[in-house]
Amino acid sequence: MANETIKRDVVIIGSGPAGLTAAIYSARASLKPLLIDAPVDHVKQTAPGGQLMITTDVENYPGFADGIQGPDLMMEFRKQAERFGTEFMEAWIREVDLSERPFQLYTDSGTISTETLIIATGASAKWLGIPGEAKVPDGFGGNGVSACATCDGPLPAFRKKVLVVVGGGDTAMEEATFLTRYAAKVYVVHRRDKQRASKIMQEKAFRNEKIEFIWNTRVEEILGTPEEGVTGVRLRKPNGEDYVFDCAGVFVAIGHKPNTGLFKGQLEMDDVGYLKTSGHSTATNIPGVFACGDVQDSVYRQAVTAAGTGCMSAIDAERYLDHLPVAMPSGDEVTIEGEHVTPDHKAIITPDGHMIPNAPGVTVGED
Ligand SMILES: Cc1cc2nc3c(=O)[nH]c(=O)nc-3n(C[C@H](O)[C@H](O)[C@H](O)COP(=O)(O)OP(=O)(O)OC[C@H]3O[C@@H](n4cnc5c(N)ncnc54)[C@H](O)[C@@H]3O)c2cc1C
Repeated sequence: MANETIKRDVVIIGSGPAGLTAAIYSARASLKPLLIDAPVDHVKQTAPGGQLMITTDVENYPGFADGIQGPDLMMEFRKQAERFGTEFMEAWIREVDLSERPFQLYTDSGTISTETLIIATGASAKWLGIPGEAKVPDGFGGNGVSACATCDGPLPAFRKKVLVVVGGGDTAMEEATFLTRYAAKVYVVHRRDKQRASKIMQEKAFRNEKIEFIWNTRVEEILGTPEEGVTGVRLRKPNGEDYVFDCAGVFVAIGHKPNTGLFKGQLEMDDVGYLKTSGHSTATNIPGVFACGDVQDSVYRQAVTAAGTGCMSAIDAERYLDHLPVAMPSGDEVTIEGEHVTPDHKAIITPDGHMIPNAPGVTVGED
């Protein structure tokens, strides 16, 4: 693609569970979606297939009674999207212009112009950047180090074991509380002498007899062997003294960063950077732009919820292209022609500002 412009009705950015599910649905609806797949990049934490490419056992994705390896699951998603004619392009979207339709997406080699855009760029866990944390074989990531208690906490390697959770915010309290279902004991290591977590989350953690806090302490290194996985952490006290603390697993819970830098100043986001969607649909504040998966979900962050909202995005884009109203974050419903249906459904506001009743049987244009 040498500086050419590609034109499409539906473009999806991201090939994790959300993007590939949106592709399956929109391809089956004969919308000929183009899915943009970022190449492997360890700094940007991107890979075709998304976050599940860096994990091993996925035990909670419905339909796989015996579990499935993350990369194998994503290969199945991809094959299904290919089967219905999804077109794939490996490229990094470096800039977008959403000021008018068709929207423009810029890669290093050309421009993509699209009537609807489905954003499924996911989120990346924040890491500590310490020795032992990297993915196997460089460290113990996937062999005792995790950033997702819901995903990995129930695995046999962590059951009835002593675990360490790193962090002091809501994520850390939530992860620690969840892990006490399986672990013998959970130690929360925090570099400060108090938490940033909300009061209710703190109190829940303080009341839990299986949770202990190690304050004013930094995790300097994760220790272990390839055979046993994680065996401990090297901790540093405020006086600079180091000691080894034995544990069988480390959950890094210092937050997530949604991959939304690209859309800053164009799409509405919360304080952390998660895209705001309607709640009744996957519509963002710009009609024709939809968001699904972890990029708009700071709460559940699971493959099945990402896939679920991917399905919603494809159906929303399909409705929009079919000239049907789609619910916006404002509560209005908007059509591709720019008509707004008010949240109470009583009126339609036309693009030139005329208000007409939306009563059953009254057709657009009648006063
Ligand atoms: C180690 C680990 C283990 C996990 N285990 C489980 C589990 O067992 N069960 C479970 O349900 N969930 C698990 N999760 C969570 C799950 O992986 C996510 O909820 C899910 O992948 C989110 O899907 P997504 O499609 O929204 O985004 P992602 O999977 O994050 O995919 C985003 C995609 O967007 C691409 N992208 C980003 N920016 C750009 C750009 N500018 N241009 C082009 N492409 C771009 C990326 O390359 C990637 O392909 C785990 C997560 C991790 C990190």
